[in-house]
Amino acid sequence: MSKLIIEPIQLPGLELKRPIIISGPCSAETEEQTLETAKQLSELGVKIFRAGIWKPRTRPGAFEGVGTLGLPWLKKVKEVIGMFVSVEVATGHHVYEALKHGIDMVWVGARTSANPFAVQEVADALKGAKIPVLVKNPVNPDLELWIGALERINNAGITQIGAIHRGFSTYGRSEYRNHPQWQIPIELHRRIPDLPIITDPSHIAGNRDLLASISQEAMDLNFDGLIIESHICPEKAWSDAAQQITPQRLMEMVNGLVLRRPKIGDTPRNTLDELRKQIDALDNQLLDVLKERMKISEAIGKYKFENNITILQSRRYDEIMNDRNQRAISRGLNTEFTTKIFESIHEESINCQSNVMNKELKKNTEQKPE
Ligand code: PEP
Ligand code: MN
Repeated sequence: MSKLIIEPIQLPGLELKRPIIISGPCSAETEEQTLETAKQLSELGVKIFRAGIWKPRTRPGAFEGVGTLGLPWLKKVKEVIGMFVSVEVATGHHVYEALKHGIDMVWVGARTSANPFAVQEVADALKGAKIPVLVKNPVNPDLELWIGALERINNAGITQIGAIHRGFSTYGRSEYRNHPQWQIPIELHRRIPDLPIITDPSHIAGNRDLLASISQEAMDLNFDGLIIESHICPEKAWSDAAQQITPQRLMEMVNGLVLRRPKIGDTPRNTLDELRKQIDALDNQLLDVLKERMKISEAIGKYKFENNITILQSRRYDEIMNDRNQRAISRGLNTEFTTKIFESIHEESINCQSNVMNKELKKNTEQKPE
């Protein structure tokens, strides 16, 4: 068990009920967009506003946030609209500026929590602050790193802490922008039962279509809240346009959620449910991996066609089967079972390759002049 000292998150005058809803745009873009989004959210009953002003973008050249300029806008959201306001902080300077402008809550982003130096800098700057701090999971599926980031913040004297589950990056495409790997936040809850967990369906999904099912899943797992990106005009957002929804749509979605357990910090789901969830998550990953594998088989099919090589290379097949056998043994798996699986994968891979070859052949004959 981790030795975190955790106190319930408190925002003055607000009774936090499950699900805690935090919403607002991915980025504060203009004062008008920030205030209008906040106004609509507030009218619909959302109390906690989020907006990024320092945006950690994967590639340079994308919109990197308005910076400190946006803090007075958030102050207005707080003072004029009456919402609690939260931003992402990634450096000591961000923390200093956020505190100076009366930000009510901050979160540490996924790229920052992957870097202990950066988390320590944020933690040092937070010393003495009396605000809640949420820590997103690191981009990589490393539970110890996530717990380590929470510990660094907690060691700085911040006791109102919570975790944000925003999914984990994977190589290659999947139905998710960031794979939820539910087994990781489930294990986090098992290790630190008092820690509130907020799910971030927006960054897990990367699109609007999956938001409702991910939110429901988080509720079924008895997590405490949701942080969801919303924008007055989602398609025109300067960052993460594909995943944002209007405040109106957000509330329809939240109102449609089925809450099976009423209380924050309630006991975990029963063991069978939790184990089944883990099986579901792993099966989903298996499917993603199979899809990636078949895509590579298609590329191989194309290469073999272009270079006039036969599909079946029996030496390679023997090598694969021997290698996979050894790997299965070293993992304590039944090799009869794994052999059946790899035979079936190989068969499908050959199908994929011959489909590609036939398609290429057809293309070539169609292109030939009469
Ligand atoms: C965000 O919340 O807008 C953000 C940048 O998220 P993450 O750190 O999860 O990528
Ligand atoms: Mn975003």
